[in-house]
Amino acid sequence: MTGVRVVVVGAGVVGLSTAVCIAESLPVCSVTLLAEKFSPDTTSDGAAGIVFAAPFPDIPLERQRRWFKDSFDHLLAIAQSQHAPDAGVILSSGWQIFKEVPATKEPYWSDLVIGFRAMTDRELKRFPDHKFGQVFTTVKCECSSYLPWLEERFRKAGGRVEQRRVSSLQELGDGFDLVVNCSGLGSKALVGDPGVYPVRGQVLQVEAPWLTHFIRDGDGKTYIYPGVHSVTIGGTRQEGDWRLHVDRGDSASILERCSRLEPSLKKAKVLGEWVGLRPSRRNPRVERERMLLQGRTSVPVVHNYGHGGWGVTIAWGTALDALGLVRQCLKEMPRAKL
Ligand code: FAD
Repeated sequence: MTGVRVVVVGAGVVGLSTAVCIAESLPVCSVTLLAEKFSPDTTSDGAAGIVFAAPFPDIPLERQRRWFKDSFDHLLAIAQSQHAPDAGVILSSGWQIFKEVPATKEPYWSDLVIGFRAMTDRELKRFPDHKFGQVFTTVKCECSSYLPWLEERFRKAGGRVEQRRVSSLQELGDGFDLVVNCSGLGSKALVGDPGVYPVRGQVLQVEAPWLTHFIRDGDGKTYIYPGVHSVTIGGTRQEGDWRLHVDRGDSASILERCSRLEPSLKKAKVLGEWVGLRPSRRNPRVERERMLLQGRTSVPVVHNYGHGGWGVTIAWGTALDALGLVRQCLKEMPRAKL
C-alpha cells in the first residue's frame, strides 16, 4: 500500500539522504523528491566532503554524537564495500594542526573516527608554525558521485523525482499529506526562517596525485583534501556573503596559504575553482510542526535544514532523525490513510 503522499523538498545531500531513508523504510509512503537543483548543481556537489565537525552550541552533545556516528558508520560501510567507487566514498587519513594548543584537545567525535591520537613532536616538525596536532582516519564523501548514487537508490525504492522551484510550502498543500523540508539555504525564504544565513566558501581543485594525506589548519580556513580525481584546497568562511562568483583574490590567498603548509602545491596545476554557500544556522533544525497549507486544515511538516559547514558529515544521522519524526506523524494520521 502506498497511501501517504510524502514530498521531500531539496536534492542536496540532506534531502537525498532523507528521501532514501523514508522510501526504503516506509513502504506505506509514496515519496516524491522535489527540487529546483539536482546534482551536479547543488551546494553539496562542491563540498570537499570530509567527515569532520565542530559542535553546534545548543544541541545536546549526545544527539550530535549520534548524528556523527550514524553518518560515519553508514559511509564507512560504503567505503569498505563494492559500492565505494560508484558512490565516491573513500577512507582518508591525515592531520589537523593548530597554531595554539586548543582548549579541547579531543573533539566529541574523537572516539568515533579511526585511530585518533595527538601528533608526536617528530610529526609536528613538518609544520613549524603549529604547536599541536591530531592524526586520524575519517571518510571523504564526494557528492558529485554520491548524490547520483543516492538518487539511483531512491528510484529503486520506488521514489519519484520532480524538478521545480517552489516559492512557498503553501503550494504543496494540495498534492501531499506530509512535507519534509530539506531546502538548505532555501529555507530562509521557503519557511521565512531569519536564522538561516550563507557562509561563503571558495575552493580550488588541483592536480597533485602525490598528495595522499589531508592537512587541515584548526582555524578551519586552510585545508588540503586529496580526493579520488583531484585535491581540493581551500578555503574561505565569509559569513553573510552571497557572492557566487569566483574571487581572484581568494584564489591567490588559498594557493599561498596551502603552499605554506605543503610547498609541493606550488607545482600543482589548477583544474578548477568553485564557490558554494554553506546553509548555516546557529543549530540545524531537525523537528516537526503542523502548518496550515493551501486547501488543507493542517499538514505535518518535518524540517531538516541548516547544517552549515558539516552537512556531508551529519546528513545520514539527521536523515534518520527526520525518518523518526515522519514515523511519529504517520502514527497521528487517520487510519484510513494508512
Ligand atoms: P544543498 O546542497 O544546498 O541543497 C539544497 C536543495 O534544496 C537543492 O536541491 C535546492 O535546489 C533545493 N531548494 C532550495 N530552495 C528551493 C525551493 N524554493 N524550491 C525547490 N527546491 C529548493 N560539509 C562537510 O560535512 N564536509 C566538508 O568537507 C564540507 N566542505 C565544504 C566546502 C565548501 C566550500 C562548502 C561551501 C561547503 C562544505 N560543506 C562541507 C558543507 C556542505 O556542503 C553543506 O552542509 C551541505 O551541502 C548542505 O546540504 P543541503 O542538502 O542542506 O543543501
